[in-house]
Amino acid sequence: MEQWKTIIEPFRIKSVEPIRMTSVAEREGHLREAGYNLFNLHAADVIIDLLTDSGTGAMSAEQWAGIQRGDESYAGSPSWFRFLESVQNLFPFKHVIPTHQGRAAEKILFSVVGGSGKAIPSNTHFDTTRANVEFTGAEAVDLVIEEGRHASVIHPFKGNMDLEALDAFIRDRGADAVPVVMVTVTNNSGGGQPVSLENLRGVREICDRYQLPLFLDACRFAENAWFIKQREAGYADRSIPDIVREMAALADGMTMSAKKDAIANIGGWLALNDDGWADAARNLLILTEGFPTYGGLAGRDLEAIAQGLREVVDEDYLRYRIRSTAYLGEALVESGIPCVQPIGGHAVYLDAAALLPHIPPLQYPGQALAIALYREGGIRGCEIGTVMFGIRPDGTESPGPMELVRLAIPRRVYTQSHIDYVIEVVRSVAVDAAALRGYRIVEQPAQLRHFTARFEPLS
Ligand SMILES: *Cc1c(COP(=O)(O)O)cnc(C)c1O
Repeated sequence: MEQWKTIIEPFRIKSVEPIRMTSVAEREGHLREAGYNLFNLHAADVIIDLLTDSGTGAMSAEQWAGIQRGDESYAGSPSWFRFLESVQNLFPFKHVIPTHQGRAAEKILFSVVGGSGKAIPSNTHFDTTRANVEFTGAEAVDLVIEEGRHASVIHPFKGNMDLEALDAFIRDRGADAVPVVMVTVTNNSGGGQPVSLENLRGVREICDRYQLPLFLDACRFAENAWFIKQREAGYADRSIPDIVREMAALADGMTMSAKKDAIANIGGWLALNDDGWADAARNLLILTEGFPTYGGLAGRDLEAIAQGLREVVDEDYLRYRIRSTAYLGEALVESGIPCVQPIGGHAVYLDAAALLPHIPPLQYPGQALAIALYREGGIRGCEIGTVMFGIRPDGTESPGPMELVRLAIPRRVYTQSHIDYVIEVVRSVAVDAAALRGYRIVEQPAQLRHFTARFEPLS
């Protein structure tokens, strides 16, 4: 196999969904109606939807078979036990608490351990994680290594935690104010960049020094394990499940969105070893999600996740997955389009600050670029910049850490020709980048504004 240069999609397509083609004029109308917020578009008006890789993957024949097998018993369903076995095979935590999404796991975890006066460090908190931390009155602190803060700086593990900064932070605040340390693998908001096992061990040592628990935000654990196998000395011959278990062994718990590396359309879980926290979490689970053997999920969803977890650690799948993301990124970089480098696991992140230096952060260069990609070619990406991260809990606005547009690749959905089309459209938008203008916000909520804010183009 290795002698061929073309890495093919390791699957055949047995069910198709039509894509409806639209014109630039139609898309301009859709943009106006949507208040220039791509979350407000009808998905049927999108040609290539790279808004997110969350819940948008194509399920396998075996997953659909699992959906049929799903047992909907309220308590103790066989589907629950298949889910539990599949989760604990990779993450042998004592308690597994199923939720309808990752953010429900976060909400429960931080309700138990958060609160005002507390601070929760991470390499980089994802937007829902940060919002759930802040909702309890706690502070969400990002301590990614310096390399991870610069789009074009090359580093094999750009998602790593800055260990010195973490140690200094805990010392300054006092360990009592830090209920848990989080590490996001891969680092979604920082460009889908991996975290090395060496770095995780370093975080573990610091946690041990202050007797603090370490939790993984493990949404893309399989992609992270693949990067470890490729890039970290000593892991080339280790199996992916082995590497995942080594990551898990360094942690005391995890939050997970099954919409990512469980290749399911819905689902998540909170897993942990601490009995007291698990009791408190289960009580909250029953209040807002459901009974502990289904959480927020149907039995059929538990089956899809159980099977997805077996498929996502397959090396043929991961080789294709990581290679196809790099294929898009490398083609754009070769065309001189600024991207976060090296190319991450699940997405290519365009550097809107570098491409649109004439648009200041508070005029949302990422939003301007995302809108242009939709207008030009019907491609829907996602701003990860000042719109997403520029608003503080007190309502003041400041520039986000970077101005990115994320082109997230749904798992097993698009083929190489779809991606070639994306490359062509991005190149064409980049050629005319100087003509793009910024936006202003005309309506926004207090939290997670990127989902619902409405915009107006600046003249
Ligand atoms: C998607 C995601 C979440 C939240 O999961 P949902 O299932 O969307 O609620 C949390 N952390 C990271 C890193 C994510 O990518």
